[in-house]
Amino acid sequence: MARSPAASARLEAAAAAKQVHSDLDLPRRVTEGAGLIDVFEAIGELGIPLVFKPLTSALGLCLPSPLRGIMVTTKRGLHIQRFTAAHELGHVVLEHRGSIDREILERGPLAPAGGRDLQEVAADAFAAEFVLPRWLYRHHIRAQGWTVARHLRNPDIVYQLSLRMGASYESTCWGLLSHQILPRGEVDELLKTRIANLKSRLGGNFRPGSSWSDVWRLTAKDNGARLVGNPDDLLRIELEESSGSGHQWQVDALRRAGYAILSDESAFSRDPLHYGAPALRTLIARPPENGTGAVRLRESQPWAPDEQSDPSFALGLSLQGPEAGGLSRADRRRLGLTS
Ligand SMILES: [Zn+2]
Repeated sequence: MARSPAASARLEAAAAAKQVHSDLDLPRRVTEGAGLIDVFEAIGELGIPLVFKPLTSALGLCLPSPLRGIMVTTKRGLHIQRFTAAHELGHVVLEHRGSIDREILERGPLAPAGGRDLQEVAADAFAAEFVLPRWLYRHHIRAQGWTVARHLRNPDIVYQLSLRMGASYESTCWGLLSHQILPRGEVDELLKTRIANLKSRLGGNFRPGSSWSDVWRLTAKDNGARLVGNPDDLLRIELEESSGSGHQWQVDALRRAGYAILSDESAFSRDPLHYGAPALRTLIARPPENGTGAVRLRESQPWAPDEQSDPSFALGLSLQGPEAGGLSRADRRRLGLTS
């Protein structure tokens, strides 16, 4: 059976997104780096002008070929800015005529194509593949030790996966379906979850600073991670602690780095079989006000000097929220305009 024009447009768009990943060496750079595709940096590296403006009647727009230029609104959250920029990048790479986008469908290749402009169908498919490629799912699933059968049907896990990939919960769910990681029925179940409920469970008595802010659940598997999100995000850090030998996570390093520790609890397993097992130290922390900075915690005996061999847990933060206007932060870094 011949492919429909929409199906052909999507295939061509996804192939173009993969080509850009490969041209910019993104699979290696992203999996060795922050774990999410820096869409704005990629646009800058391709030499395409990108500017953020307080657009109210559109999420983004791009200039027609052969001009090249992308504008994205400052009026929406970071995940939408990222997806919008990827959609506009799709228009540029696929050499479409100019576009002013009021609506962008994060379902990407799964959105119904009926009656929609084929260039929009293609740009949505490009964006979904560009922001959420299959290899990025595989990277995080492996790094976290998750399995499809035991973990990915759990909305808490999929929410944490979405934060690490810099995408909304919904678009992360659609990617699970389009990459055939989960079947339709299970993705439909995941999509019924109210994320606000997950956030309030994770944060204990504490809530993130606003409804679009997130709660990161971090464990030893996230050692060395760089978090990209919003300044109001909350961090829930869960680390095993060998308290039997007097080792404790030295959490003052967090305070010195400007974090507010809202809650600090230690719990032992009640299972007698696990007597002597490590305790679980759970911290809920608010990041420093500017949302940036690195911190390293050590697990040591309080009376002993720090040893290089002590277990440690390091985090880098880029919790700076949406782009605020003008050039992207990535462009300013690239052009040496930031201190
Ligand atoms: Zn468009």
